[in-house]
Amino acid sequence: MKWEDLRRSKNVQDRRGRSSGSGLNSSGGGISPLLLMLLSGRGGKFGIIAIVLLLIFGGGLSGLFDSQSTTTTDNSISYQESRQVDQDIYQSDSNTTTQATDSEVGFLSAVLGSTEDFWGEMLPQYGMQYEPAQLIIYSDYQQTGGCGLGSAAAGPFYCPPDSSIYIDLTFYRDLSNKYDAPGDFAMAYVLAHEVGHHIQNETGVMDSYQQAVNRTSSEAARNQLNVRLELQADYLAGVWAHYAEEQGLLEVGDLEEAMQAAHAVGDDTLQEQAYGRVVPDSFTHGTSQQRQAWFMRGYEYGDLEHGDTFNTLLPGEEY
Ligand SMILES: [Zn+2]
Repeated sequence: MKWEDLRRSKNVQDRRGRSSGSGLNSSGGGISPLLLMLLSGRGGKFGIIAIVLLLIFGGGLSGLFDSQSTTTTDNSISYQESRQVDQDIYQSDSNTTTQATDSEVGFLSAVLGSTEDFWGEMLPQYGMQYEPAQLIIYSDYQQTGGCGLGSAAAGPFYCPPDSSIYIDLTFYRDLSNKYDAPGDFAMAYVLAHEVGHHIQNETGVMDSYQQAVNRTSSEAARNQLNVRLELQADYLAGVWAHYAEEQGLLEVGDLEEAMQAAHAVGDDTLQEQAYGRVVPDSFTHGTSQQRQAWFMRGYEYGDLEHGDTFNTLLPGEEY
């Protein structure tokens, strides 16, 4: 990706070397026509309890690229849970926990700046203003503003209450070393996906999702809703990639890097690698094929109208 000449976002906080930080102020998301567009016809239910369940049950899987929300404020408890749950699958290789380089921070700042420019132009076309997310770069553990203690072992995540994206840059290397998804645009996809969750938060989709979760009693159904939320974030990442292409930022192979990353973090691929088997009902992020398909769909359309994962029959879906 040609990122060197891009402006750097000012919404990046480098907290590496600090084990924890103070919480950020919450900033609410707006209600919106986009929500109606994306969620028309289907309400959502369930909320915070279900997310906590997700963290407990599918924590390992849902940790990667996850949007986290939890009522837990007891740091010691959430610390324990995060570690136990996430390390089952995402054991950080302590040998690779070297400090991220300045160029990696520069790269993420440039990509974040690009997403800000894009969404800052895009959302007003739908009658909304875009309030950028904060990007918190940390190492090991980081206190969030409403999502408990973030653990690097869980992978990048977005915290809705403080509108912040949390990334430990060891994940940057893990993409290449552990997930076989090398290349700068693989990481750009990851960040754009988290920004996608912020868009969902800003537009009210996240709230509706939580309401839908609250109205659902079956775990399989909750997982399915989570899959739809995640696939929409992949779609929104693709929409930004469409813009990046238009801006002449993409290099040969970039799209393939993003697609490889989307494949690598599919639930079926992760489960196959971790357990040697696949349990579809436990999927929280979608299959490799689904994640690639929705990213590509966003890339092809470059708009919001085609990103309704909540009312669309997903590939492989039978009902
Ligand atoms: Zn996600």
